[in-house]
Amino acid sequence: MARRRNNINCTFCGKTKDETLILIAGLEGHICEACVEQAQQIIEEELYHKEKNFKFSLSKMIKPLAIKEFLDQYVIGQDEAKKVLSVAVYNHYKRLNQTVGSDDVEIEKSNILMVGNTGTGKTLLARTIARFLNVPFTIVDATVFTEAGYVGEDVESILSRLLQVCNYDVEAAEKGIIYIDEIDKIARKQDNPSITRDVSGEGVQQSLLKLLEGSEVHVPPQGGRKHPEQKMVKINTQNILFLCGGAFAGIEKIIARRVRTNTIGFNAESLVGTSEADSLLRYVSPQDIRAFGLIPELVGRVPAVSYLEPLDKKALKAILTQPKNALIKQYKKLFEMEDIKLEFSEEVIDFIVEQALDFKLGARGLRSICEAIMTDAMFELPSQPDVKEFTITLEYAQQHISKDKMKTLRVAS
Ligand code: ADP
Repeated sequence: MARRRNNINCTFCGKTKDETLILIAGLEGHICEACVEQAQQIIEEELYHKEKNFKFSLSKMIKPLAIKEFLDQYVIGQDEAKKVLSVAVYNHYKRLNQTVGSDDVEIEKSNILMVGNTGTGKTLLARTIARFLNVPFTIVDATVFTEAGYVGEDVESILSRLLQVCNYDVEAAEKGIIYIDEIDKIARKQDNPSITRDVSGEGVQQSLLKLLEGSEVHVPPQGGRKHPEQKMVKINTQNILFLCGGAFAGIEKIIARRVRTNTIGFNAESLVGTSEADSLLRYVSPQDIRAFGLIPELVGRVPAVSYLEPLDKKALKAILTQPKNALIKQYKKLFEMEDIKLEFSEEVIDFIVEQALDFKLGARGLRSICEAIMTDAMFELPSQPDVKEFTITLEYAQQHISKDKMKTLRVAS
């Protein structure tokens, strides 16, 4: 202690100046580099934990109408899907609040299936609802799974991902939302010869069933395959809401057959890709999903089936300009940060929309088209401090989407 009296030392750990690399002076004391680092770690842990502190208060449960209004801010159109989703989510959280009384009425979980072409907003809807509820959310692709014991991922890894998202807070994970994309790709293959095992189809459906209906699952917290020596975490999936999505290409034929079996001379095969096919989608029912190749037990676990409409010109235009984080708003903001006022002429918006329609990728194509148009401007303008305004004209857009560029975009898509 005598040594310390004559020396400046870290007020936190007591190390002397000689024992540290650096001592930072404050009004009343000093702090060494090791304590700064430790303090930083504490700050990060505390703040990170707070940020990821998923809390869902049932007393604050908002009504379906308000849920839909929230979705409206981010997702254009798709009113039907929004309604189904709002009601299902509302009921789901009501269910979490239920106390099974003398009447023995138990509200069952209502997982949701969304049918719609790629880029119509299925993932966006799922993501937005999770943001609204402030619950952990993860997206998985059904195509990566195989039956346990085969090369590929076990379905339990879905839960590992959810756990990671909420910083291993099991309680939070058990109230989370999981979006399973491309569920149609694990449909039973109609032409699968019985001698080969369908390890990525029906087997996966069986394993998913276990999660969807609610059970206690032991998951490896770090993901990957289960190893006997790995410590497992027990997760109860009873209150996890599963949203499933898929394009279900060709399901119109199944719907058509069901709703128009009596129409003479009607050819379901010629429907695909027509607007009539699109409008048939609104009649999609669990029965059609079963006929498509999902096992009845699984279909039974996703009772709320909804559809997403293909996006037309008006919808694509709205997507480009209206939502809170619309692409055009994002580009304007990027340029605003350089003190540049960016404008898009009305014709350019129409041009981008037409190109996107041509891609047949729904709203997914909008981003790549915009990037192709904007890359040069984003590259050059930051080095030109004199430029304070910039307008993207039709001519500029056409020049930047040369035929070659479009070809590569097409290949990439
Ligand atoms: P899906 O899951 O149906 O294939 P996504 O939800 O991933 O499609 O959509 C891809 C992108 O297109 C989203 O990031 C979003 O920006 C945009 N998008 C798609 N549909 C809509 C919509 N209805 N409203 C607003 N943006 C949309």
